[in-house]
Amino acid sequence: MDKLIPVSQPSISQREIDYVNDAVRSGWVSSLGRYIDEFESRFARYCGTRYALTVSNGTTALHLALMAAGIKSGDEVIVPDLTFIATANSVAYIGATPVLVDVDADTLCISPAAIERAITPRTRAIIPVHLYGHPADMDLINAIAEKHGLLVVEDAAEAHGAEYRGRRVGSLGMCGVFSFYGNKVITSGEGGMITTDDESLYRTAKRLRDHAMSPTRRYWHEEIGYNYRMTNMQAALGLAQLERIDEFLSKRREIMGWYRDRLSTQTKLRLNRDASWAKNAYWIVCVEVEDLSDDLRQSLMAALRERGVDSRPYFYPVSDMPVYPDADTPVAHHHSRIGINLPTYFDLSEHDVNQVCEVFTSALAQIRN
Ligand SMILES: *Cc1c(COP(=O)(O)O)cnc(C)c1O
Repeated sequence: MDKLIPVSQPSISQREIDYVNDAVRSGWVSSLGRYIDEFESRFARYCGTRYALTVSNGTTALHLALMAAGIKSGDEVIVPDLTFIATANSVAYIGATPVLVDVDADTLCISPAAIERAITPRTRAIIPVHLYGHPADMDLINAIAEKHGLLVVEDAAEAHGAEYRGRRVGSLGMCGVFSFYGNKVITSGEGGMITTDDESLYRTAKRLRDHAMSPTRRYWHEEIGYNYRMTNMQAALGLAQLERIDEFLSKRREIMGWYRDRLSTQTKLRLNRDASWAKNAYWIVCVEVEDLSDDLRQSLMAALRERGVDSRPYFYPVSDMPVYPDADTPVAHHHSRIGINLPTYFDLSEHDVNQVCEVFTSALAQIRN
């Protein structure tokens, strides 16, 4: 068998190697150093925010952002039911309640109507997730937030460089949260970022990230803080990747086009969404098969793997996890069940995509029989 075509793999060029080497040789291997400063300032400029704060990963970015926004135990935070589990977990870390609501079929992102229905006197915040690289409908979400006095934390972990009506994600709410895990649009190995225009949120998040040490008195701590820092070595990798992001995003767009040419003509298949106001980052290729069930999907993924193609199921609804209460979210449940993700990464060639699509088409025919 040929080697497996993976779903995701990072692109590491000489630039990444040079920057990481430089960081290591400089001796600045922990969380101070010029790559940290440069990565933060360049990322803030890229997103169009005043501040950007590096953190250890996307999950700690969410946790810190919620703490810095003042979310407390007993508060309710509205979260889409279709997302990676970390979105809901970050709310639970605080002792707040994630209120799981449905998504819109035409974006797979949180439904503004479902948000309105879920608001109670205890609601404090909304976390829209720009799922699979497609931005959520932020104007509608911000209008609801304003009307009810709620905070908006964007989970942009899958959407670096995506745009909503010409503005980059991460700049559209009170703050934005990114991940640089190895399979994301850009990576620092592990890593995350909080973006914001709010100086006080930025300062609070930074203090809590650094053990809540007093800025004026060393080793003095007036609250319980955390060590959620990124290293200078990770920032070196992240900076090199950020300098290549335009190249990454246009290649993802090209790959998406290859998939569309080969799959979107087939009946009963639906690929990634593109709302008229959205610029999708195409973090990962999505294919929904109208008549799929969980069992058929397992067989489909097994058949793909046998023929040398790796794939992933869509995220399961958070409310299906034993640790979270059930939720009435038919759209999230339906799309979650019928979706799979196919290989999407910088070094994928048109020939590879051809192969993936041929394999996908024949595996699908096989499981339908
Ligand atoms: C990846 C991801 C996270 C968490 O990021 P980590 O860096 O893996 O902790 C959070 N939310 C979403 C939507 C993600 O895809």
